[in-house]
Amino acid sequence: MKELNKDQLLELAEPLKKNSACPDCSSLACEGWESVPSSFNLNQLQVLGTLRIEGADEYWEEYHPNGTNIWSEDAPISLQHHPYNRSNVCECISCKRKFLRYTEYGGYYVDERIRELNFQLII
Ligand SMILES: [Zn+2]
Repeated sequence: MKELNKDQLLELAEPLKKNSACPDCSSLACEGWESVPSSFNLNQLQVLGTLRIEGADEYWEEYHPNGTNIWSEDAPISLQHHPYNRSNVCECISCKRKFLRYTEYGGYYVDERIRELNFQLII
């Protein structure tokens, strides 16, 4: 899979300064991280690349300098921090809206999580 650096991510995110959701992806309301709704067809999303760096050590620290948490809609997108460092970048095949996705592995569950890619939050 293609590894994306910050510049490439910014380039992908830039056209979406104004939010636009098409009927195919409008069920994804995810300014912050959300579980992908079970009714959503993941085939609607095309993977563009990954923020994961092959061979990098696992790193679980999150980055919240302004008191946000992982679920905050205004939490910064810091590529080297969790969970961005294990996220893929994908887009809606209909309208090109961009998202970040990763899979959370809990003890007894697997949770597909998604967050809209917001240009202004990439640091
Ligand atoms: Zn769409």
